[in-house]
Amino acid sequence: MPEERVLVLGAGTGGLVAANLLAYHGYKVTIVEKSDFHLFQPGMLWIAFKGHRPERYLRPVEDLVRPGVELVKGVVEKVDFAERKVTLGDGRSLSYDKIIVALGASLDYDAVPGHRQLFESIGDYFGGADAAAKFWSHFSKLTEGTLVVAAADPLYKCPPAPHKAAFLAADTLRRKGLLGKVKVVLALPFIHEYASETMAKIIGPKLREAGIEVKTMFTVDSIDVENKVINSLEGESIEYTLATVIPVHGGPRIEVNPPNAVDEDGYIKVNKYTLQVEGYDDAYAIGDCTNAPTSKTGVTAHLGAEVVVDRIMGFEARFTGRTNCPVVADGEAAFVISDYEHPPVPVRFSKMKRLMEDLFIAAYWSSLKYPEKWQAVFRAYFEATSPAVLGERGW
Ligand SMILES: Cc1cc2nc3c(=O)[nH]c(=O)nc-3n(C[C@H](O)[C@H](O)[C@H](O)COP(=O)(O)OP(=O)(O)OC[C@H]3O[C@@H](n4cnc5c(N)ncnc54)[C@H](O)[C@@H]3O)c2cc1C
Repeated sequence: MPEERVLVLGAGTGGLVAANLLAYHGYKVTIVEKSDFHLFQPGMLWIAFKGHRPERYLRPVEDLVRPGVELVKGVVEKVDFAERKVTLGDGRSLSYDKIIVALGASLDYDAVPGHRQLFESIGDYFGGADAAAKFWSHFSKLTEGTLVVAAADPLYKCPPAPHKAAFLAADTLRRKGLLGKVKVVLALPFIHEYASETMAKIIGPKLREAGIEVKTMFTVDSIDVENKVINSLEGESIEYTLATVIPVHGGPRIEVNPPNAVDEDGYIKVNKYTLQVEGYDDAYAIGDCTNAPTSKTGVTAHLGAEVVVDRIMGFEARFTGRTNCPVVADGEAAFVISDYEHPPVPVRFSKMKRLMEDLFIAAYWSSLKYPEKWQAVFRAYFEATSPAVLGERGW
């Protein structure tokens, strides 16, 4: 049995996969989490735009931690990589032989004037299950006017999230016979309909087919909640009846020693291949809390966790930066597939990919608690669909 004590911070997607996989391999693992419930974050889209019940996407954290993992409920306040010590909000301190930081990204509703007021009055699909349910209570009553889906910064979790929001919203409106009476406007901080031109050529026509109006080069700069107007950094304005804006993201809100272990936005600086915290061979960071130059998605957090577990076990595993972000449209899906070496390859919409996405969602809870059971299936999928294999022809 390995003697090393591994401390995992955060029981989100990456933290749970890492902790449960290490426990499976016999490591003594402690995981620290501030929330009682784990939220399947993509579920917020379905709550906010389809009226799904929040309980469907929430599980008590203790139910997702396998026997052998010690769960500590608490708020991480300080991580001291130099002293190998973590301090919690109630003053407790924890030491470790190896640490994996998986605290996710933080959301800043105060970066854009008016944003907090908008969020507190109608919720959104980023700020938690309750916020998403609140948004649905407004969206479900919308019968005319303009729904605006926008972003305050180009860097946010799940790059196709606003596209999915617009597709799901348009689908709900269409089913109610309201699409047209309600206009859906997708305002994006990019030159094209998607950050990658290759995928924009595939997603753009689908958006038009779904009756969604796209405004490019629109980065939200301020929101005038009284007059219902969103203003962009680029100098344009959009009037809305209902609006939702993705907040500015940053690294976890904790104190870190040494301070230069995080970048100017608070993201933990890692070697992008080994996911080791710069300067520390006993410390790793995975998922949304790092500065690794790849998308902030559950898939990347999961794959990063597997790499770190392999490295702790002594294997020379390397993180490729692989993404697999689903774009869900009416009855179909596509995936944004890229890695460090390859920009997104062309992946077209199909019903089969929608089935695959639905199967991934169904497997989510099991893949967190028993990641070893899914490793063979996931590896086969990720190898068969790697950007190098798919190439310019795509999928
Ligand atoms: C609307 C939306 C749609 C998405 N769709 C997809 C998708 O289709 N596919 C996909 O792959 N990804 C998707 N994502 C992104 C995905 O959910 C995240 O990238 C993923 O959850 C990141 O995992 P993580 O482990 O890095 O962080 P998280 O899962 O966010 O976990 C961080 C954990 O740390 C805890 N924590 C934070 N601070 C502290 C503290 N100080 N003390 C103690 N605990 C703390 C949090 O409570 C949380 O449990 C979506 C996200 C959103 C918002």
